[in-house]
Amino acid sequence: MANIIIIGGGIIGLSSAYYLLQQGHQITIIDKTNMLDGCSYGNAGYVSPSHFVPLASPGIVKQGFKWMANSKSPFYVQPRLSKSLFNWGMKFIKSATKANVESSAIPLRDINLLSKQLYEDLCHVPGFSFYYANKGMLDFFKTDENAHHAEQMVAASKDLGLDAVLLNKQEVEQMEPGLNMDIKGAVYFKCDAHMYPNKLMRDMIAYLSKNGVTIKTGEEVKGFIKEGNNIKGVKTNNAEYFGEHIVLAAGAWSGEVAAMLQLNIPMVGGRGYSMTFEDLPFKIKQPIILSEARVALTPMAENKIRFGGTMEITSTNTPPRMNRVKGILESVKKYFPDAEIPFPEKDKIWYGFRPCSADGLPYIGKVSKYNNLVIASGHAMLGLSLGPATGKLVSEIISDKTTSIDVKAFNPDRFN
Ligand SMILES: Cc1cc2nc3c(=O)[nH]c(=O)nc-3n(C[C@H](O)[C@H](O)[C@H](O)COP(=O)(O)OP(=O)(O)OC[C@H]3O[C@@H](n4cnc5c(N)ncnc54)[C@H](O)[C@@H]3O)c2cc1C
Repeated sequence: MANIIIIGGGIIGLSSAYYLLQQGHQITIIDKTNMLDGCSYGNAGYVSPSHFVPLASPGIVKQGFKWMANSKSPFYVQPRLSKSLFNWGMKFIKSATKANVESSAIPLRDINLLSKQLYEDLCHVPGFSFYYANKGMLDFFKTDENAHHAEQMVAASKDLGLDAVLLNKQEVEQMEPGLNMDIKGAVYFKCDAHMYPNKLMRDMIAYLSKNGVTIKTGEEVKGFIKEGNNIKGVKTNNAEYFGEHIVLAAGAWSGEVAAMLQLNIPMVGGRGYSMTFEDLPFKIKQPIILSEARVALTPMAENKIRFGGTMEITSTNTPPRMNRVKGILESVKKYFPDAEIPFPEKDKIWYGFRPCSADGLPYIGKVSKYNNLVIASGHAMLGLSLGPATGKLVSEIISDKTTSIDVKAFNPDRFN
């Protein structure tokens, strides 16, 4: 049994604590917030084996520049003088290749499938009662270009052994009866699931607290206590904590925290927004992605529906940009002309920062510079999906066990 400090209480930190606890370790989670509303709460709730194409892929940079000119578009990079943004941007551009897409597909599939299985196990653990539905996801398309892309995605999914089929508009209408849809068709990714992440997070925190995990909220890690290649502990604004292993799961801030240890973990925050409505007359049966608009719609527990989207590479202290939020709701209308969705009050608009690595793959594993540090971050659009698998892998790495899947592709040292 070891004392383990986890920096960050998002889905990755909590899942790491959950699996480390199963091995009998003594765990302390430290988070600078109250852990009640971060990125792991307001996301779209998708568990996405369908997402085997990493963010860094061909065409994304060109498309990104086109989108930059439109304040309601789904993508934006805030121009600013920042060494870490420049470092990340250069690596991201270099990684946006066909080769990166090809080499990432199997590692992303494997970690996604492992995680989905673990979620299905978690649903049966006493203390967990979060809404989880294994119903697949519809990826709508409107253009001929995307119809062609959809065919390729179905073929690529089948090659990977993932269940996906191409549907024409009439077939989509049978799945979503009564909705007027302006689309050409959809890919139905039967392999996907979805959930209400807010409840999952609350269940996790309650379970961990009940089972002896110490959770320190409102404490920011500001430095480390080191001895050679060992990290003895962390210093917060309030206290010092000592442990035999440290897990860095600080989400979009992981790059900054790693820099305190002279480590290069390229990371930026990719802000996204979501709005959750209760009892809205507009209802859907399935989670739906509007692919041209990059918007996600999710039916959630208790008659809720969530609309989410945009990727704004921006500093984590910039105020929200309301035009992007308008862009999300306006694009819903382009696919569902009859949908009436009121613009919500400002305090009902949620946003969070996705931890974006420079090549679209997470960083999971030990770094060569320190003997007892495990990085678990950089999951970008997949953090919720990959939480349990990442937590399990972290616990296996710390216990020197053979990992459930190959983790080479996630090596956090890969940009050094
Ligand atoms: C609009 C939107 C929709 C999304 N939809 C999906 C989806 O459908 N499916 C999916 O899989 N993913 C989705 N994501 C992505 C997913 O939400 C993230 O990848 C995930 O929440 C990241 O989890 P995390 O634990 O790494 O980071 P976080 O949840 O951000 O947790 C990190 C924690 O570290 C803490 N921290 C940071 N620095 C310090 C420090 N110095 N000291 C102490 N604490 C610190 C922070 O306070 C924070 O609580 C979406 C994201 C957005 C924005």
